[in-house]
Amino acid sequence: MSSGTPTWIRADWLVLSAERVLHPGWLHHAEGRIVAVGEGAPPHAASELGAVIAPGCVNAHAHLDLSDLPAGRAEGESFFDWLPKLVRAKRAREGQEPQSSVERGIARLLETGTTAVADVDASDASELLRAAPLRTVGLGEVLGLDRERCEAAFERAWARRASSTERFESGLSPHAPYSTHPEALRLAARWLESGAAVQMHVLETPEERAWCEREEGPFGEALRALGVPEALCRSWRAKPLEVLERAGLLRPRFSIAHGNELEDDEVAQLARARVGVVFCPGTHLSFAREREPLDRLRAAGVDWALGTDGLVTGRDLDLRAQARWGAGLHPGLSPRCWFDAATRGGARVLGLPAGELLPDRVADWVVYEAPRPLRNADEIFSAWLEGALAVRETWVGGRIVHRCAR
Ligand SMILES: [Zn+2]
Repeated sequence: MSSGTPTWIRADWLVLSAERVLHPGWLHHAEGRIVAVGEGAPPHAASELGAVIAPGCVNAHAHLDLSDLPAGRAEGESFFDWLPKLVRAKRAREGQEPQSSVERGIARLLETGTTAVADVDASDASELLRAAPLRTVGLGEVLGLDRERCEAAFERAWARRASSTERFESGLSPHAPYSTHPEALRLAARWLESGAAVQMHVLETPEERAWCEREEGPFGEALRALGVPEALCRSWRAKPLEVLERAGLLRPRFSIAHGNELEDDEVAQLARARVGVVFCPGTHLSFAREREPLDRLRAAGVDWALGTDGLVTGRDLDLRAQARWGAGLHPGLSPRCWFDAATRGGARVLGLPAGELLPDRVADWVVYEAPRPLRNADEIFSAWLEGALAVRETWVGGRIVHRCAR
């Protein structure tokens, strides 16, 4: 830590979590972790950083290497019109460094108050994620219906695991039930057993269920159009969650991206297994989707989080914007609830000691400027959701990693 970084800080409003706000509040941190927090006068000289200090956002599902791919943008089209466009755009830049795309994405995360991200890494960008100033879970993507290709992707991902640091950890992402060999699931379960985070796109569309369970619908044609050999255009012919359960994947630190088509019995299955779901409102709007089970997930006590997905469908890497769009889709949920999903929800789904400003949690927070005097916690969460609180500084591991230019 640089000698100029204050380790005792205070704020007019210190948001510990969606449940507890101190006014005024103080916080002491050391070696990247929070040591103590309290209300009122601090027991030690402390630096006043700003009006509001709150946990940074945890983006639980991103594709940073798609931050720079305008040709793949989805704009009101169907998933099946968009998918080949994305694959063509990705193939056109194969062999190019993902650097500018990932770096652009990271800059956007920091300036919008995100301190941790789970990034599906399809471009071997783990070095960039490891060097990034925010907390990253690099989910090495395993994609392919070909068993040997899956196994080779696992070998590469396993070799990267040794490079984990305090801020970066290496996880895994078998892509989706329609694009992953079942053998990959057994290998992914070994990662979970060893404590790593594993995430998969599951039940994003109704067509995915039709293909997975009955080998029907447009997925077969889409796979053939992408050049997948006929012998590999085969589905699991089973309910996706049953296959995941048999493989040993339904356990904590496994998470599902999207899950729009989850049925009630599957929601109950996830609750029992303590598997979380990541909702990506921007992507939902891009594809004009009608279904997602947020109310049922909440009623069943399933942990849920927010993700931006890739910019090509997610529209913005600002998690507050995702929360606003989510609030538009679910007007019954309070700003406090969206703040919780964007912070503690992401940390719970990913299994990170983040998302709350409490002793032993990581020292990751955002200093916000308030545009108007705030009278209570509800006003803070409303101003946060509106985007009225301006990000002044972003801190990760007890260090300033972004300061807003004024
Ligand atoms: Zn995704």
